[in-house]
Amino acid sequence: MTTTGAARLAGVTGDPVSHSLSPILMGLWIDAAGLDAQYVPFPIAPENFDRAVSGLASAGCVGLNVTLPHKEAALDLADSAAAAARAVGAANLLTMTDGKIHADNTDIAGFLYALEPANINYNKARVLVIGAGGAARALVYALLTVGVSDLALCNRNLPRAEGLARDLAPGASLVPWEARDDVLSDRTLIINATSLGLRGRNDLSLDWDRVSPGSVVFDSVYTPLNTGFLTGAAARGLTAIDGLDMLIGQARPSFQAFYGQPVPELPDLRGQLVRHLEQS
Ligand code: NAP
Repeated sequence: MTTTGAARLAGVTGDPVSHSLSPILMGLWIDAAGLDAQYVPFPIAPENFDRAVSGLASAGCVGLNVTLPHKEAALDLADSAAAAARAVGAANLLTMTDGKIHADNTDIAGFLYALEPANINYNKARVLVIGAGGAARALVYALLTVGVSDLALCNRNLPRAEGLARDLAPGASLVPWEARDDVLSDRTLIINATSLGLRGRNDLSLDWDRVSPGSVVFDSVYTPLNTGFLTGAAARGLTAIDGLDMLIGQARPSFQAFYGQPVPELPDLRGQLVRHLEQS
């Protein structure tokens, strides 16, 4: 579709941003919906973030997705923010109207979207979240909204997990990093919300023999799709979910917010994204 002078412009910003799959994903939806629109990657260094985002808002950009390291800065810069983004302390979606910027966090919805096929009974789930950064905060917030009450938090830097518990989940138990294998046997949902497993980094290792059969495992990482964490879970016969559907799930409300259109349902969307990841 030709881009006209009336095209709606949105994008994604990070530092770096070249690895982002969001332009491919949004481009597929824009093409399928036949929109007069563009979705552009904006590499913005932290020191330029406020100036660059304000400039884009002034220039008629309708919104931005925000990735590392800007999610806290995005919340701070916004004129208004959804309660969920404030509670999490980070925003991955900025929408811009008449130069005013509104912040939201769609990682929360994205995570629950990814877990939908596993049909988890959240009221009875016994969850272990490993990690205490921005993603972990969104995941914990999501888990609390769907009724999880048995939550254990583990992070290499334990005071960071203590802070997460204090801010969002005062009832959560805290697990020292070295003791994470000791709590596996009674956990029914185990989540990697660390950056371990990202391409070029070490994997998050767990003693899979101690995980109960029937447990569900989620990895927030999607580059690569087959992390050592998920491979270990699958070898144990567990339901293993990668981070790609969370990416799709967080992008859905973003697309609607930017372009005012329902998300086109593409039967092979995931397959197309997987093929792109395999080639990159
Ligand atoms: P972040 O705020 O930088 O937090 C990083 C987390 O990883 C912290 O808990 C950190 O522990 C831990 N960590 C890093 N290196 C470690 C190591 N060597 N050993 C043990 N723990 C280590 O990052 P984030 O925004 O939370 O992102 C976390 C992951 O979620 C990333 O892989 C990101 O790609 C993914 N993510 C995926 C989606 C999606 O749509 N699928 C969306 C958002 C994020 P310390 O506190 O001890 O440093």
